[in-house]
Amino acid sequence: MTELAVYALRSELSRGRRHEEPAPGNRSEFQRDRDRIVHASAFRRLEYKTQVFINHEGDLFRTRLTHSLEVAQIARVLARSLQLNEDLTEAIALAHDLGHTPFGHAGQDELNACMREFSPDSGGFEHNLQSLRVVDELEERYASFNGLNLCFETREGILKHCSLSHAKLLGDVGQRFIDRTQPSLEAQLANLADEIAYNNHDIDDGLRSGLLTLEQMQTVPIFARHYARVMSAWPDLQSRRAVAETIRRMINTLITDVTHTTAARLLQASPSDANAARHCGALVAFSPEIRQEADVLKKFLFENLYRHFQVMRMTNKARRIVRELFSAFVQEPRLLPPDYRHPDEMTQARKISDYIAGMTDRFAIREHHRLFQMGDQL
Ligand code: MG
Repeated sequence: MTELAVYALRSELSRGRRHEEPAPGNRSEFQRDRDRIVHASAFRRLEYKTQVFINHEGDLFRTRLTHSLEVAQIARVLARSLQLNEDLTEAIALAHDLGHTPFGHAGQDELNACMREFSPDSGGFEHNLQSLRVVDELEERYASFNGLNLCFETREGILKHCSLSHAKLLGDVGQRFIDRTQPSLEAQLANLADEIAYNNHDIDDGLRSGLLTLEQMQTVPIFARHYARVMSAWPDLQSRRAVAETIRRMINTLITDVTHTTAARLLQASPSDANAARHCGALVAFSPEIRQEADVLKKFLFENLYRHFQVMRMTNKARRIVRELFSAFVQEPRLLPPDYRHPDEMTQARKISDYIAGMTDRFAIREHHRLFQMGDQL
């Protein structure tokens, strides 16, 4: 392993775990976190959760699992070239979507709306907070504690956004939102790696599905620029390969840009250690030119892919399933498996949202059938 920079987070200086445990013998604290995440049930469920396309729409589309692996891959490359802690950034990347509902953002938005309508005091539903809840409370794998008992640094990295009112309830991991300081550089890297991964794989999946066309993509400068270079070097290249080659180059451009820009900003700010870096503003960034190009791409994907009528039809069905499951369980909690029942109304609603959020796409579809169709299995 390359030597860590002074501002990298060192696992031996971790603020520790919520429940004290003996130090790991053959790996670092952050490696142990990563390993716990990989073994979690919530991690395995990511295989059957939507990124953009519903899991059963095709075998080649990204799921939350392959998305998380791509984020981890990009985050590790960035960490290593900036001499930051690769294990920590990998752990954060692998865990960042653990709290995602079935059906991607549509599922989350609907569950949030259901919780808020149930009670404005419920705090709604937010997938970042839910990811933290999964690793802090919901996983049941250890005899002496709930959750995975991860290090503070991994937990704060998972909590990417958070409202002030939530932050006040979260203790140590919420403090930075109150103090308005940054998370670790490793967390900042995982965050940007997420954006690099989804922007690129959504182009790939969008083209593969036929919802986006190559002509359309050429109105997006960052794609057009790389695609033109590929086609001038290989004029007869078959289009699938040309797309793959273009996306490969785009990812490379983005990673190289973040590395150079961040290295320059680190040099200028020269934080004396990992803690000092939290007070320097966001140091991990794209250059202004690439930031602008990435924003154009994001906007394009939003308008043309995430709002494509075929995606909207799926989104609409997904929202209905989530809403109908939620109302059925709120009206009659005895429809829930016993573990998810609770006498207190607010706790009951939260448990219903945990139950729904934990579902894979296909489980939610089946559960909806079981509750609403006569003659189906129980
Ligand atoms: Mg993500």
